[in-house]
Amino acid sequence: MPELDRDAILKQMGIMQWVLRDAKGDESVVQDKTAQSVQAMSDKPAAEEPPAQSASVVEELNQPGPAAEPVRSAQVPESTAQNLDALRNEVAACEACALAQTRTQTVFGAGPDQADWLFIGEAPGQQEDRQGQPFVGRAGGLLTQMVNALALSREQVYVANMLKCHPPDNRDPLPGELFACAPFLRKQIELIQPKVLVALGQISAQALLKSDQPLETLRGQVYQYGANNIPLIVTYHPAYLLRQPDDKGKVWADLLLAHRQIPV
Ligand code: SF4
Repeated sequence: MPELDRDAILKQMGIMQWVLRDAKGDESVVQDKTAQSVQAMSDKPAAEEPPAQSASVVEELNQPGPAAEPVRSAQVPESTAQNLDALRNEVAACEACALAQTRTQTVFGAGPDQADWLFIGEAPGQQEDRQGQPFVGRAGGLLTQMVNALALSREQVYVANMLKCHPPDNRDPLPGELFACAPFLRKQIELIQPKVLVALGQISAQALLKSDQPLETLRGQVYQYGANNIPLIVTYHPAYLLRQPDDKGKVWADLLLAHRQIPV
């Protein structure tokens, strides 16, 4: 990974006055040091950071979440697709949950066939539903800024959602929908082989981690996803940041934490 130019990064992120108090830490012991490093890099007092917790091995997405409503949707079968194009075709034909009746089109994801970074949001919004692409509009623009701040372009990272279809009226995904759609994301991850996963927002974080903890508790730690123990980091959704720009510093700390998980 390239060295990051702090000043350029902060400008990209819209953080004009922000001081790294201690950007040098021993990163060799990831779990013990990451929460400390994130805290040091945060623009907020230390007391606002969540306490360090042990890393948890993230189980496969084969169960509905802890707050799940009765599951009304059949889970899509495990895909045997050999590549992303084949998987995209399976998604396009999917009618496993009721969102198939209201979508304009499926929104599979975007990025190179193999990417070091995989950003995972919750579900396509209205504009995404119209355009068939993830993270367009203002939230998508802010995600692009976040990616650019990492000295990367959107074309170098993969962006996807937990759900491949737009929930009507931009409502939150239902647990049954997340359950139904989970095998598609699981296969996407298997095919893309990312070196780090970034869960954007509370819904995707809770679904991936099988947790009902709030986002503020989940962020600031390194989790491991699946059999290959892919590092997983939690941060705020860009749509939230549009409403709460003061939290950009926390997002930047989370992105630095993710950046450190990628082998040089
Ligand atoms: Fe199928 Fe997922 Fe769309 Fe539901 S959200 S219809 S499971 S692709």
